[in-house]
Amino acid sequence: MGMQIKDSQLIWHPFQGPKSGLPIGIVKGKGAYLYGEDKKKYLDLISSWWVNLHGHAHPKIAEAIYKQASILEHVIFAGFTHFPAVNLCEKLSMILPSKLSRFFFSDNGSTAVEVALKMAYQYWQNLSEYKRTRFLSFEGGYHGDTFGAMAVGKTSGFHNNFQKLFFEVDTIPFPSTWIGDEEIDKKEKASLKALNEYLEKNGSFCACFIAEPLLQGARGMRMCRSSFLQKVIALLRSYGIIIIFDEILTGFGRTGSTFAFEQVKEVPDIICLAKGLSGGFLPIALTVVSQSIFKAFCGTKFEKTFAHGHSYTANPLGCAAAAASLEILLEKKTQDNIQALAKVQRENIANLNVVAPRFLGTIAAFNLESTRTIYSHKIAAKLKKLFLQEGLLLRPLGNTVYLMPPYCLKPKLLKESYQKIAVILSKL
Ligand SMILES: *Cc1c(COP(=O)(O)O)cnc(C)c1O
Repeated sequence: MGMQIKDSQLIWHPFQGPKSGLPIGIVKGKGAYLYGEDKKKYLDLISSWWVNLHGHAHPKIAEAIYKQASILEHVIFAGFTHFPAVNLCEKLSMILPSKLSRFFFSDNGSTAVEVALKMAYQYWQNLSEYKRTRFLSFEGGYHGDTFGAMAVGKTSGFHNNFQKLFFEVDTIPFPSTWIGDEEIDKKEKASLKALNEYLEKNGSFCACFIAEPLLQGARGMRMCRSSFLQKVIALLRSYGIIIIFDEILTGFGRTGSTFAFEQVKEVPDIICLAKGLSGGFLPIALTVVSQSIFKAFCGTKFEKTFAHGHSYTANPLGCAAAAASLEILLEKKTQDNIQALAKVQRENIANLNVVAPRFLGTIAAFNLESTRTIYSHKIAAKLKKLFLQEGLLLRPLGNTVYLMPPYCLKPKLLKESYQKIAVILSKL
């Protein structure tokens, strides 16, 4: 195919390795389907790297972008503002708790995390609490590919080549669990013990804790119980540590609630949003913070300001896409389908003959051979090929397979996909 050959001569893809093979050329997307240059169609069960919410080329979002592009495509966001940004933040503040009320724009998930980490660190400097300099995260957490994000995600397994360059980050074990897990109480207890020991020693030196709430995506769709996370937050709070929830993947309905923190019943001090924020159309991100954090940056001296800004900060097209996506998300039809998809996941995942089946809202996952996710597992390439042959776009994380459909997918099609998966697994 013409596209593939030219691509292979010109383009360096993310995670491209010697065995990657030629990328599949995609010429069109509609609803939950992607259409290939090879005339095949693929059911997008990974929401195109976890970004797509309502299906591809959704007419309402496409129109919002088109309209905005003919009015104002971009303007510097330092010292200027525009309606799409204000409108989006107003809409978001209506579905967020009143505590999360200040919105800082950036371009993607990694930058939203950088912003959160820098804010948390500078917050304590601004308050003259100079000893609060430590960062805490969960083992296996993934927060993006820029340096600060890599440092707090240093145990995710993706950033090993850069370990020597990271600032110091402490980690506590993540008690990942699944259906029928008998060890979970023991794992949680060990994790809380490690946290307690850490806090006794370093609690008053810790600036912030960052976590992916309930679901570690990149590490292998690892899930923890909300009651556990609640206990973690309570402990951290008793030391005044800033809580950052990276909701870049979990936000906007993926976990069954609009945001994962709703299930933890704890409102964090900072949340990071990206991926589904624009419905999967444009790169845009937000770091949403509490008023009390914002206030610490309101001094008159330049040293107190947050000196951070990207060229495309609050791009109007991205904001317009995000507002349109949010409207669709809040429609009853969408909310009903989110619950219907969650039901299909719940009812089907446990019936597969697999290891560590688990689900959280619209996301379900399972492992093969080991409860651990092993990225280098050779089964991944074979599985991916078999899935694609059946028209299923699934991208196993080593021996971990997950289904994360866009919300426009008909529950019946998800059910049929499970039948196809079962047949493929029986052939292995
Ligand atoms: C994808 C992801 C990021 C990074 O977002 P990018 O837009 O890829 O930079 C950060 N945190 C989590 C939880 C993610 O899933």
